[in-house]
Amino acid sequence: MQSRWSDDDARAFRERYAASGEDLALRVYTSRLIGKDPDLVMHGGGNTSVKTRVRSVLGEEVDAICVKGSGWDLDSIEPAGLPAMRLEPLRALRRLSGLSDEEMVNQQRTNLFDSTAPNPSVETLLHAFLPHRFIDHTHADAILALTNQPDGEKIVRAALGDRVAFVPYVMPGFALAKLAAEVFERDPRVEAMVLLKHGFFTFADDARTSYERTVAYVDRAEKYLAERAKSGLAGAAAKIGAADMDQAKARAAAIAPILRGRLAAESGNPDIPWKRMILEHRVSPEILALLAEPACGTLAARGPLTPDHVIRTKAHALFLPGLALDEPEKLALQVDGEIRDYRGRYDAYFAAQVAAKNVARTKLDPDPRVLLVPGVGLFGAGKSRKDAAIAADIAEHTLRVKSQGEALGRYEPLPESDLFDMEYWSLEQAKLGKEAEKPLARQVALVTGAAGAIGVGICLELVRAGAHVILADVDAAGLERARERVAKAGGSSCCTAVRMDVTNEESVRDAFAHACRTFGGVDVVVPNAGIAHVAALAATAQKDWQRVIDVNLGGYFLTMREGARVLRLQGLGGNIVVNASKNVFGPGADFGAYSASKAAGHQLGKVAAIELAPFGIRVNMINADAVFAEGETQSGLWQEIGADRAKSKGIAPEALEEHYRERNLLRAKISGAHVGKAVVFFAANVTPTTGATLPVDGGVAAAFPR
Ligand SMILES: [Zn+2]
Repeated sequence: MQSRWSDDDARAFRERYAASGEDLALRVYTSRLIGKDPDLVMHGGGNTSVKTRVRSVLGEEVDAICVKGSGWDLDSIEPAGLPAMRLEPLRALRRLSGLSDEEMVNQQRTNLFDSTAPNPSVETLLHAFLPHRFIDHTHADAILALTNQPDGEKIVRAALGDRVAFVPYVMPGFALAKLAAEVFERDPRVEAMVLLKHGFFTFADDARTSYERTVAYVDRAEKYLAERAKSGLAGAAAKIGAADMDQAKARAAAIAPILRGRLAAESGNPDIPWKRMILEHRVSPEILALLAEPACGTLAARGPLTPDHVIRTKAHALFLPGLALDEPEKLALQVDGEIRDYRGRYDAYFAAQVAAKNVARTKLDPDPRVLLVPGVGLFGAGKSRKDAAIAADIAEHTLRVKSQGEALGRYEPLPESDLFDMEYWSLEQAKLGKEAEKPLARQVALVTGAAGAIGVGICLELVRAGAHVILADVDAAGLERARERVAKAGGSSCCTAVRMDVTNEESVRDAFAHACRTFGGVDVVVPNAGIAHVAALAATAQKDWQRVIDVNLGGYFLTMREGARVLRLQGLGGNIVVNASKNVFGPGADFGAYSASKAAGHQLGKVAAIELAPFGIRVNMINADAVFAEGETQSGLWQEIGADRAKSKGIAPEALEEHYRERNLLRAKISGAHVGKAVVFFAANVTPTTGATLPVDGGVAAAFPR
């Protein structure tokens, strides 16, 4: 590991954050250097502090400490993410013999300069009780590999030398803060501190030295490991080629819906009977090599690298060897049994800990967050893709560090009793979002024709309702623009884009495979892609007829067939919402191919409703009238056919939009968002409806469903 300090960057931070003062500006800079290295900290893990002077509202200079606030990641921290507190009142707390976690948080908040600041880290008092101006706390992989051993203290001392102090494991909070200060005061020469089976602290009076001490010690730990923890991992990974990777990805796409289906828990809500999980697949030659190691199964059943991770990954990963990867029915039974066993083990752990500690706690869900499948890769699971990705990131590091630890001696994490205290710690629980879930939370939608005005309107409404979305389209440039709009509305992790040609069987299959690897499956399928051609029957060339039929009707068919296949593999029901057309019931002249394709697609939807009802899959249709744009996204279809359509109606092209508005009963201008809201209505299962048609046309009597 090497220092990433740069004088130029440090100067730039001092300038950018001049208003916050030099101390805080440099604290932001080196916090980000630490945050950018996943071998040091991941996803909100670790924390940093600086002691400085702050001007109070009365104009007095006051001693203060700024500590990372909860909800901030070190890699993107800003001065606002390091809330300032009065230092002296916090230090005075050391006189107490004990302090509850709740009162500790209260004291921290009471001493904030800004009452709206986030909660400072629960390790604030540890930072406050040490004398140094800059303190850096990481969960460095290499240090954890050394300390998570039966004789971890001896090993770390051999690796890092005698300027490092050791603090036995105590849960973060007041007691740990006092103990760490006592340990430091016994030998004030030390420049770093290992919290056994937890993490690492370095300190100094300037930002650069503290940061570079972290780097230097982690580098020593890495070299120590490289010399002693000999493993065949690199060699094994080198033997894994492109064909193995392709096979792993294909298998992941095939089994993800089965895993996701078995992982869903009953919700107790008859309208949306399943509480689903999002799964994210990860694979690399190193991951496949790690999963193939003989110890992988036993290591999966040993605890996490640092107790923080238990919140994200649970204590144990679910190891799934020997799956019948090419026999879906047998596989579903195997996975069912494995997940049932996992949940049983979790329930037993909970019951045993509650009984041993004689405490009352509300049990969390017993579901795994990390699934390890040899030959396929790992899956992170969570209520959102963000959570699934965090679990997967941690799992990748965990696999590697456990393997190193085992090669060094024996990987031995904290006992379950300590992990339970962390998992069921009220302060940690408070970090996890408790807000009510949106109607389509935990669901995944695939929308074809997503680059168009209606498509983007549908995707925007779906993410606003809490869904994850796969935008599919043939138009790569338009697709990227649409994805950016949707990401802006729902966050970059809520959506992905995939190029998909709805007339091509393989392309459709690939797009759904992408959905399965990225999110674990799909719950809402929206066949929406469509084109049109303006010509009287007598003047319609066969190739134009065929093109419209292939894209519109053929696209409905292939998208519904593949979508239904994935929905059935999951076994969680789901929704198909067909974007048909007002033309289905109210056809117009010179629009034969389009109207016929839409009417046939509408009919196909009804047949699908009948066939798929036994599986809890609903199929409904939306009949929208002309949508010319959704915000900045213009309708490609109308740009192409608008002029011809206006001519056939005998009006000027610029009068067309007004013509459609004028002809409906409500004089409504129909937008892509209107169609999107109709999709959300069906997808949210708010009424027990299938095989139905909802017009979104402002009321056109000639096109009333009948
Ligand atoms: Zn920590």
